[in-house]
Amino acid sequence: MFVTATAMLPAVGSLCISRTPRGGPRFTMAVRSNVNVSVAPILTKLQKECAAPLPVLRNVADAMTADMRAGLVVDGGGELKMILSYVDALPTGNERGLFYALDLGGTNFRVLRVQLGGQEERVQATEFEQVSIPQELMRGTSEELFDFIATGLAKFSEKEAGKFHLPRGRQREIGFTFSFPVKQTSIDSGILIKWTKGFSVSGTPGKDVVACLNEAMERQGLDMRVSALVNDTVGTLAGARYWDEDVMVAVILGTGTNACYVEQMDAIPKLQGNKSPSGRTIINTEWGAFSKGLPLTEFDRDMDAASINPGEQIYEKTISGMYLGEIVRRVLLKMAEEGALFGNSVPEKLSMPFVLRTPHICAMQQDYSEDLQAVGSTLYDVAGVESSLKARKVVIEVCDTIVKRGGRLAGAGIVSILQKIDEDSNGAIFGKRTVVAMDGGLYENYTQYRRYVHEAVTELLGTEISKNVVIEHTKDGSGIGAALLASANSKFDHDY
Ligand code: ADP
Ligand code: MG
Repeated sequence: MFVTATAMLPAVGSLCISRTPRGGPRFTMAVRSNVNVSVAPILTKLQKECAAPLPVLRNVADAMTADMRAGLVVDGGGELKMILSYVDALPTGNERGLFYALDLGGTNFRVLRVQLGGQEERVQATEFEQVSIPQELMRGTSEELFDFIATGLAKFSEKEAGKFHLPRGRQREIGFTFSFPVKQTSIDSGILIKWTKGFSVSGTPGKDVVACLNEAMERQGLDMRVSALVNDTVGTLAGARYWDEDVMVAVILGTGTNACYVEQMDAIPKLQGNKSPSGRTIINTEWGAFSKGLPLTEFDRDMDAASINPGEQIYEKTISGMYLGEIVRRVLLKMAEEGALFGNSVPEKLSMPFVLRTPHICAMQQDYSEDLQAVGSTLYDVAGVESSLKARKVVIEVCDTIVKRGGRLAGAGIVSILQKIDEDSNGAIFGKRTVVAMDGGLYENYTQYRRYVHEAVTELLGTEISKNVVIEHTKDGSGIGAALLASANSKFDHDY
């Protein structure tokens, strides 16, 4: 939805009726000395700086492809870490047995069990539970966080019944999906490089996260074993590949963002000739760290400076769910302060970082009513803001500007990976059906964002080629994917 952008103030001393916090009508006088104050210049500047037309997207996609290549040559060669996943064998459909998965993502952790029945029966049963992670644990100690997770896992495993069965004497095995940057050292071990997405748990960076979980499980008296440590993108790719052999790339657009893809081992110089029988492996790009050529604004720079990881994860901070709402809030605050967007005073709550979340701006953009009723009530409920219709229209414009930039840049990232694979395979990717498995609450829920992602991919690839590229939403595929990888790396006999 596009509206023109002028929210002029009401004339001096105009009378308006607004709601009180308890809902009853209240009369307020908007007294202003300067009736010509307007948010229009701020909005115009914002739109100009956030614009991501085709040449900008092209530039971002090409720079990211070049950065991927640099990261494959040597660790630290580029901004993208291009981490080896040690997943060299993709799911085949032959997997059998009971496996668990544990997914530590951002806002939640999920536990899941799946009973796999081989080619014919495939997934016979699954069950999962989701637990939200208390804020204080996201900034607490490593032991506290992993104990909390192990306790949740223990409770979940106690409820195993019905279609789920484990042969006698066999230990339960877990695929551990851990969606933070890890330097993987084998399929079942990896060192945490750093926390992202608002986590800053002390004691974990530099440690093997599998050991952290194993120790916590021991403390809880829980007899389970992690047989695969996988990034959520890798789990998503594995889960989607189980059903569809054309899956080559997986992307997460949720609280944070990341992508992985199937790479030829010949194309990874830093492997120094170490090869698996398949000749292929999954590379976890950690693309959230990218920063080159992005259209950024003062609001992005201020948000970054105030973040717990300044200077890092700039692409993630521009395109992912944790940050979109916060960027919008910062713009609205400036508009309130300098353009009197919400009248005479600046709503106090609007100064609180992260008070406006991405689901809020999503809800506002889904408001197609004439008076933008839902925009008004969201602003009121979230930030205590009284808004005129004109102000609401400006708010929508701001949301759209930030979300359009995010979605389009995410599309450029997808194309950067596809064109990397295509260049290396002499056109074997764009000439046939190729599937990008997509997961994450942002992509799933935010219609406009999703549309901008698709538009950017189509613009960059052209209509003909983009017909071959299928972006497939695979909700929670990473859980089953991790369980499938646990099966592939089981220490027990596969056919029982
Ligand atoms: P995680 O990245 O923590 O694994 P998800 O993939 O479930 O989590 O995505 C959750 C994120 O998706 C939220 O942090 C939020 O940014 C975004 N999100 C969730 N619901 C909505 C919504 N209704 N509209 C827009 N974004 C949403
Ligand atoms: Mg996730």
